[in-house]
Amino acid sequence: MAINRDIAVAGIFGDPVGHSKSPAMHNAAYAALGMSRTYAAFRVTPGNLAPALRAIPALGIIGVNLTVPHKEAAARLIKDLSGEAGMLGAVNCVVNRRGVLRGDNTDARGLERDLRDLGCELRARLAVVIGAGGGAASSVLACIRLGASRVVIANRTPARAAALARRFSAKGARAAGEPSGLDALMDSELLADARLIINATSMGLTTGRFARLDYDSTPADCLFYDLIYSREPTEFMKPALAAGRHAADGAGMLINQGELAFKLFNRVAPPAGVMRAALFDALGRTLSAR
Ligand code: NAP
Repeated sequence: MAINRDIAVAGIFGDPVGHSKSPAMHNAAYAALGMSRTYAAFRVTPGNLAPALRAIPALGIIGVNLTVPHKEAAARLIKDLSGEAGMLGAVNCVVNRRGVLRGDNTDARGLERDLRDLGCELRARLAVVIGAGGGAASSVLACIRLGASRVVIANRTPARAAALARRFSAKGARAAGEPSGLDALMDSELLADARLIINATSMGLTTGRFARLDYDSTPADCLFYDLIYSREPTEFMKPALAAGRHAADGAGMLINQGELAFKLFNRVAPPAGVMRAALFDALGRTLSAR
């Protein structure tokens, strides 16, 4: 496709951004719909986030996704936030509405939809969220929406888990979150009640190994969900699968948040399955694998 003035541009800001699969997913949807639009990756350093956001209306960019390390900073820079972006204190989606920027967040809805697709019924059950950053905040919100009666937030730095729990209780959320250290992952009594355990840290990706976790104490219906996604099962998932538990990675969440963002940018939904096929192709994964 020739890039000229008739082409509308969407994109993603991040640093680093080269690893992002979003361009492959969005451009596959544009091609499937025959739209004269393109989606580009922009490496934007933290110091350049404010001018880059100001450039969106100036250049007529239709919208951008935000990835590491910009989600929280953008929530402080953009005035018009959706209720969800305000609650999470993070923006992953900026929409250019006739020159005015609107910050939204599709991560929690993306995860919630994937957990529903996986048949994860949380009503009156316990969920454990590992981590206390942006991904963990989206995970806690998804668990609350799925009806969890308890959400334990286990983090290396317990003070950050406490701050995240306070944010939800200040917003009046039911089952706001019980902060804890990573020692909760070896608490066999607690884990015996867990219906869902979510990894919302980079452990396994950056460290090679996951923290000590008592997989065998979890009930047979416990789902292990890793926000990290890759070609093969992750370090967090492998012992769960070996113990006969269900496990899934974050590919489904990424696809869902991408489909929701595409609709916000373009006011039309991407054709079913196109973003999934593009992501799996980029990961070198077969479509029969979940
Ligand atoms: P973040 O805000 O930087 O938070 C990182 C979290 O990881 C913190 O809780 C941190 O603990 C913990 N952590 C980092 N290194 C650790 C270590 N060596 N040992 C123990 N804990 C460690 O990151 P984020 O944006 O939430 O992202 C977290 C992960 O989720 C990333 O891998 C990201 O790619 C993934 N993610 C996936 C999707 C998706 O669509 N699938 C969406 C969002 C995020 P401290 O507080 O103690 O530092």
